[in-house]
Amino acid sequence: MTRLCVSIYVEAIATAKRDIAEAIEAGAEMIELRLDVMTDLVLANQLVEACSVPCIVTCRAAYEGGDCELADGERVVFLSTLATAHDAYYDLELIADKRVPHSNAGRLILSSHDFKGRPDRLYNLMEEMNARPAAVSKMAWMARSIRDCQEAFELMQSRQRPTIAQCMGEAGQISRILAKKFGGFLTFAAVREHATTAPGQPTIEQLKQVYRWDALDADTRVYGVVGSPIAHSMSPAVHNAAFAQAGINAVYVPLLVNKGYESFKAFMETYIVGDGPLQMDGLSVTIPHKENALRYLREHGDGVDIEHLARTIGAVNTIVVDRSHGKPQLAGRNTDYAAILDTITSALSIDRSALKDKRIAVIGAGGTGRTGVAALAAAGATVVVFNRTIDRAQALAREFDGKSGTVVAAPMDKLSECACDIFINTTSLGMSPNVNDSPFGEHPPPLSSANLVFDTVYNPPRTKLLQQAESRGAQTASGVDMFIHQAAAQFELWMSLPAPVDAMRQALTDRLTPPTL
Ligand code: NAP
Repeated sequence: MTRLCVSIYVEAIATAKRDIAEAIEAGAEMIELRLDVMTDLVLANQLVEACSVPCIVTCRAAYEGGDCELADGERVVFLSTLATAHDAYYDLELIADKRVPHSNAGRLILSSHDFKGRPDRLYNLMEEMNARPAAVSKMAWMARSIRDCQEAFELMQSRQRPTIAQCMGEAGQISRILAKKFGGFLTFAAVREHATTAPGQPTIEQLKQVYRWDALDADTRVYGVVGSPIAHSMSPAVHNAAFAQAGINAVYVPLLVNKGYESFKAFMETYIVGDGPLQMDGLSVTIPHKENALRYLREHGDGVDIEHLARTIGAVNTIVVDRSHGKPQLAGRNTDYAAILDTITSALSIDRSALKDKRIAVIGAGGTGRTGVAALAAAGATVVVFNRTIDRAQALAREFDGKSGTVVAAPMDKLSECACDIFINTTSLGMSPNVNDSPFGEHPPPLSSANLVFDTVYNPPRTKLLQQAESRGAQTASGVDMFIHQAAAQFELWMSLPAPVDAMRQALTDRLTPPTL
């Protein structure tokens, strides 16, 4: 059993007692008391007594990233006294264990921490720890990249006794989320945001509510979203809600992969085509890796199935991994373009074939604009591309004009005179926190109930652009609709099951800031 352990940094007794109660209420199965600056034995005893779940006491030495100023000998006496009195675990660095003789190895967590990076002697250090008397071996290091987590999984999987192996930092977060899959002794969580005791530590609420902690086991399949930055992605909440609703033993995690093709390729070779402990079953791909995903799949070999429009757009946002024939078979898809088309056709209750009779303004010529223009041109629509930087709009028009619809470019200042049926905002204008911005500015084009205004921005769900459209009687579609369409398409590609869209939409809207206009 892998325990969910909330780590509490103790500065004052009253707040620490409150945090202990809050952590246990939230479902903590173990409490770690970081007593670096609270080394009064009487007060520390009170805190351990307040823990109604098993407890670890530690006061981390400054030489391993802590704040405790006591000499090793004093720390050992303090911690082992507490542990013996309460049958608690005590965590002591390997260095201190070697320096100071002590007993009670049955409750000792022997540890090594490296805040700079992966220790050169990672496996030797683990061997050295395992050779000494202790209950648990613990190795924590700052991840240089997400690939370091594969070694943490290996250490947990090949354990000779109960083992904690966790990578710190954002790139290390999956080693914490997936500790239960690999049989780690525990994972550490924070009681709430901004109360972390190590970089990259998730909160107990995130582990339980977003990352499905209670449902994880050795057989849990792993999916995720590759990007940089990735910490604020809504995709984990949406996909994990879908897995939970559909009763699928799977989890979806954020995967921080630094920009650049080589980083993406190394990630794929570690977690998708490699033979390490974690072999993932599907990926979402976001900024800045959609082009890298296409390149990787193109270079990977003949057997890779890449959707035609993903090649045309130049971006893959979904990778499907079929492991049923041994060697993983990969497929690349772009669910963004289908989501743009489906958002429009469901809002207007029309088929895709009806798009050829529509004149559509696409505002923006970045990645989403390009996807929209390619998809709409392929559907035969007439497209006018408006963009702040007119050169980009013109380049897009040249590329997609005639494939098979007509595509022309126009300067942004002509938008207020535009007589299109459908307007799509693909710029970031209006996105939180700049909720008072709109690509229409203060002069929207003439609109009526015959028009559809579709904002790809989803935070806030009801943007200023959509409010301007509604107040003129136009129909609207939101970025939430698009987000759910693209995520539902990914779910269906991976699972070959209908996506539970209501649960996905609820998970997304629960996490978005309420409209503030
Ligand atoms: P991108 O490639 O960086 O493109 C940004 C576009 O916005 C460019 O056309 C840029 O014009 C324009 N722009 C930026 N700031 C502007 C300003 N102050 N005034 C006028 N134009 C401005 O970004 P992207 O990846 O396409 O993403 C754009 C938006 O799409 C995001 O904000 C996101 O909300 C939305 N999106 C939604 C979903 C969904 O599922 N709902 C999915 C993906 C993206 P220039 O060419 O002149 O720089």
